[in-house]
Amino acid sequence: MNDFEQQLEQQLAGIREQDLYRELRPVDSPQATRLLVGRRELLNFSSNDYLGLADCPQLKEAAKRAVDEFGAGSGASRLVCGSLAIHHQLDDALAAFKGAGAALSFSSGYATAMAALCALLDKDDILIIDKLVHACIVDGARLCGAKLRVFAHNDLNDLEKKLKWADKQRCAAGKRPRILIAAESVYSMDGDLAHLRDIVELKDKHGAWLLLDEAHGTGLYGEHRRGLAEACELAGRVEIQMGTLGKAIGAAGGYICGSRKLIDVLINQARSFIFSTAPVPAAAGAAKAGVEIIASGEGELRRKRLWALVDLLKSSLVGKGWVLPPVQSAIIPLVVGEESRAMQLAEALRESGIFVPAIRYPTVARGEARLRVTLSANHTAEEVDQLAFTMGALKARV
Ligand SMILES: *Cc1c(COP(=O)(O)O)cnc(C)c1O
Repeated sequence: MNDFEQQLEQQLAGIREQDLYRELRPVDSPQATRLLVGRRELLNFSSNDYLGLADCPQLKEAAKRAVDEFGAGSGASRLVCGSLAIHHQLDDALAAFKGAGAALSFSSGYATAMAALCALLDKDDILIIDKLVHACIVDGARLCGAKLRVFAHNDLNDLEKKLKWADKQRCAAGKRPRILIAAESVYSMDGDLAHLRDIVELKDKHGAWLLLDEAHGTGLYGEHRRGLAEACELAGRVEIQMGTLGKAIGAAGGYICGSRKLIDVLINQARSFIFSTAPVPAAAGAAKAGVEIIASGEGELRRKRLWALVDLLKSSLVGKGWVLPPVQSAIIPLVVGEESRAMQLAEALRESGIFVPAIRYPTVARGEARLRVTLSANHTAEEVDQLAFTMGALKARV
């Protein structure tokens, strides 16, 4: 083996030693509540397809129509010649759905956060993030070079301390630095909610801005299912509303909603938007259909079904001794601690025909490994009962 291969071998051995080795499992079926994995059918409790749209006929038809009308590829970056009508239709549908002045779609949520942070902040600015925000915000924070402060998860006192520190920096600086807070509405690995009202009050008091990542809130909260900001009647006070098109919306991509000026800044300075080929027409067409379903009466029916299943599963699991977060979300984390323990439980579930992923470091802190159960509006009550029954039997082994 040459030195390159040897070093990679050592790197992999290090990952395995910590029970952190990951591998890809091919799935031979569409994303649905039942997955075909290596010729076995598994009941799927791992997807973020909360409203069951990823494999629904309307999204598939919309994707096919977009291919027929605009082709398979998009040819170039949107700023060159790739800004197809379907991309504009998607942006307009997003702005209408969110009740925002304007919207811009990206190729992924990850690319959205990275680019938005870098477009808005530089090394003279200050970024304050919740300890548990998603990797895309952490990576964007590093890349934009702003002075970074991290507040303890959902800890408003700690956030206020960081804001007071930022005020002092602002007084000392000749130039007026921007102060941006980044938080999620629903935390992806814990399923708990941001204390949004308090965050918004604090950021207004200190003249800061808020980027709210609604990756797990879009489609699920608020009268029009726009997200947690709508549910708290705070959407008009969140400067930068971010989300993904790949979870409840059922397709793939990311978006920012906000004022026309915000979107114009992003079109001009968001690097993952400028220097990357536009998403394929099929993705944009499917996402547009997903947004329209969520905004419709069918979206409300799907959400109602989802919450009924969440209530059913949570009450069954609590009855079997599992401890769960008190709030309503489609993410139900079962924290077991050791990485190896989480792996064993996930394996035991797979043997019973149920797929629930074990989530480990670096997705969550070391020693806080967990099973992350997610529900979809397409699950049946019987399927949820089957999961609860199996989880009950496993509780004894934790
Ligand atoms: C999934 C996720 C993202 C990334 O979105 P993609 O479209 O999957 O790239 C960003 N933020 C949060 C909180 C997420 O859970």
